[in-house]
Amino acid sequence: MAMATVRTRIAPSPTGIPHIGNTRTALFSYLLAKKNSGQFILRIEDTDQKRLVPESLEAIYEIHDFLKLIPDEDPRKGGPSGPYIQTQRLDLYQKYAQELLEKGVAYQKEGAIRIKMPKQGYTSWNDLVQGKISIPNQEVDDKVLLKSNGIPTYHLAVVVDDHLMNISHIIRGVEWISSTPVHLHLYQALGWQVPIIAHVPLLLGPDKTKLSKRHGAKSVLEYRDDGYLPEAINNFLFYLGNSYQDNSAILTLKQMAQIFDETKLQKQNAIFDIEKLQFFNKQWIKRLTPAELLPRLKPFLPSPWVVKDSLLLQIIPLTQERLTTLKDFPTLTNYFFSSPDYTSISFTSKQHLIDARAVLSQTEWNKSAIESSLQQLTDTHQYHRGQFFMDLRLAITGQKITPPLTESMLILGQQQILSRLDTVIKLI
Ligand code: GLU
Repeated sequence: MAMATVRTRIAPSPTGIPHIGNTRTALFSYLLAKKNSGQFILRIEDTDQKRLVPESLEAIYEIHDFLKLIPDEDPRKGGPSGPYIQTQRLDLYQKYAQELLEKGVAYQKEGAIRIKMPKQGYTSWNDLVQGKISIPNQEVDDKVLLKSNGIPTYHLAVVVDDHLMNISHIIRGVEWISSTPVHLHLYQALGWQVPIIAHVPLLLGPDKTKLSKRHGAKSVLEYRDDGYLPEAINNFLFYLGNSYQDNSAILTLKQMAQIFDETKLQKQNAIFDIEKLQFFNKQWIKRLTPAELLPRLKPFLPSPWVVKDSLLLQIIPLTQERLTTLKDFPTLTNYFFSSPDYTSISFTSKQHLIDARAVLSQTEWNKSAIESSLQQLTDTHQYHRGQFFMDLRLAITGQKITPPLTESMLILGQQQILSRLDTVIKLI
């Protein structure tokens, strides 16, 4: 028998910018579909009209585009099970609410249609992540399914849509566990097959409390604006709550899809560690070629630099190893674009700079000539090398820590180096 097609979904409510934990669920759902050559669906659950935040729909799309978690079916591109926005499917929910009323599993009260939950026994299921879960039915209220204005609640809409969209696996956060008994009763009443359900744990901050802004947790769009690469964010999220032997391998989405194993999703809460995200970002920045990095850096550059492609391409290889985020680039390299501001810099010795200027005006302008003439100079005068080169570095760059000095001098050119030295010598 052919394996049924794997169809997964992420079903955000446009009630705010998705939290990083929601994005992790989207990644897992995406990978599960791709691993099985199935489809990943993005559905917008906008039935809670009172809580709608208009800009969140655009943010949801932006997150998926940025991380390249491209749905096979969604409201923008459509698909065989559309529409993919719940408020455009109201007639469907109304029809099934009627059917539930007729079957006696729902009832009408104060204008709303509610599910009639059994009052005894348990509702149980085998959760892919949590194992067997049993919830006493008396703990589950008769939830509203359809409001008097004809708008369904999440409970009815999610079940109808997961069924009509042929969803095979539901991955969602543990906060939905208590709603699952309601959904299971709806599946049963309608005679529908229940998808495989996986409730993934919460993300915790390093202090083991629920991850929040206080821990520095942000939405993916904020991480993007802080200079994190989508590759690094995906790589980081992949290992959050997953147990693989190597939990720091650098992986592309394609590689993740090959090794993703839904049975390795962990039950324990996952700890969000920003240093790990920084680690992946550093690794991914190193891996890109300068030409690949260039367009990624541009949004972080002051506008006059943006057009200087050839200069940027020379500078990138000198700095790639040192970048934690793309945002570090302009601070580290501003001396290539403008002369340093010397007002708050103190030098050890003016003589260092006078001698350096003399030698640098005579030398041939290549790496070995520059280095050997400076070496000779410090030997002859028995200068303290550390102090001499710090003075020179400060004069050229205005900073104590910079990309390699000789390479920087080569890029800046002899004229520019001599003129910076002249400025400093006059000033101190
Ligand atoms: N709309 C729900 C949310 O915003 C979806 C929950 C589910 O995946 O069933 O998270």
